[in-house]
Amino acid sequence: MTEIKFSARGVNVYYGATHAIKDVDVDIQDKTVTAFIGPSGCGKSTFLRCLNRMNDVIPIARVNGDIRLDGEDIYDRRVDPVQLRAKVGMVFQKPNPFPKSIYDNVAYGPKIHGLAKNKTELDQIVERSLRRGALWNEVKDRLDAPGTGLSGGQQQRLCIARAVATEPEVLLMDEPCSALDPIATAQIEELIDELKQSYSLVIVTHSMQQAARVSQKTAFFHLGHLVEYGETGHIFTNPDDPRTESYITGRIG
Ligand code: ADP
Repeated sequence: MTEIKFSARGVNVYYGATHAIKDVDVDIQDKTVTAFIGPSGCGKSTFLRCLNRMNDVIPIARVNGDIRLDGEDIYDRRVDPVQLRAKVGMVFQKPNPFPKSIYDNVAYGPKIHGLAKNKTELDQIVERSLRRGALWNEVKDRLDAPGTGLSGGQQQRLCIARAVATEPEVLLMDEPCSALDPIATAQIEELIDELKQSYSLVIVTHSMQQAARVSQKTAFFHLGHLVEYGETGHIFTNPDDPRTESYITGRIG
């Protein structure tokens, strides 16, 4: 049995008067890729951001309900959101490397979290992370070059390497391929497939084909509700809810 990583109960999110997430309950499994799908504006990114408290940085956002990571309430007052985000890493739609060298992009997190005792250890972390990001071979001879000089697909893999450098347990990805060409997209999808051996991954995607290719579990959101959640194969071939069926057959969305 795969372990449950995140357990969410009765989650509601408001932006001022907008009720963006409505009473969502979900269990997200470890070592699994979970896809969030649904029409634009249905709340996928909002719910994703609940999982590492990124909504905290949006002043008008209010999050209610219970979200546990390995049984611990992540909204407890004693939880430091910076530590939480090291454990629950995030990759965004547009690759956003820091204006620093490739090496420093990856070394930054481990440095601030004190993960390396010396330069040799830091070098090892940087190499390991770039290998996990499937980027090492392409950049090993130019680690001092700026991260922003890489191609879009390489920048996104650099962002993945940066996220895994702090030894996270979960990786959240918000439409990680939407700014990439088909070849770079295929590389990221291959990488997602490898990363699921080590992490729990949650990916927001507007592409149903991508969800079907990379995920084992799919959650379909509609108008702030989590309408249906289950095995990806089941959701795409034999959904229980008529709204899911309308979406996957292209009638809504
Ligand atoms: P999706 O990721 O499915 O496209 P979002 O989570 O981005 O949906 O949006 C859900 C709802 O919340 C939408 O009505 C959107 O306009 C609103 N929303 C999202 N982010 C913000 C924000 N920062 N401020 C105000 N409203 C927001």
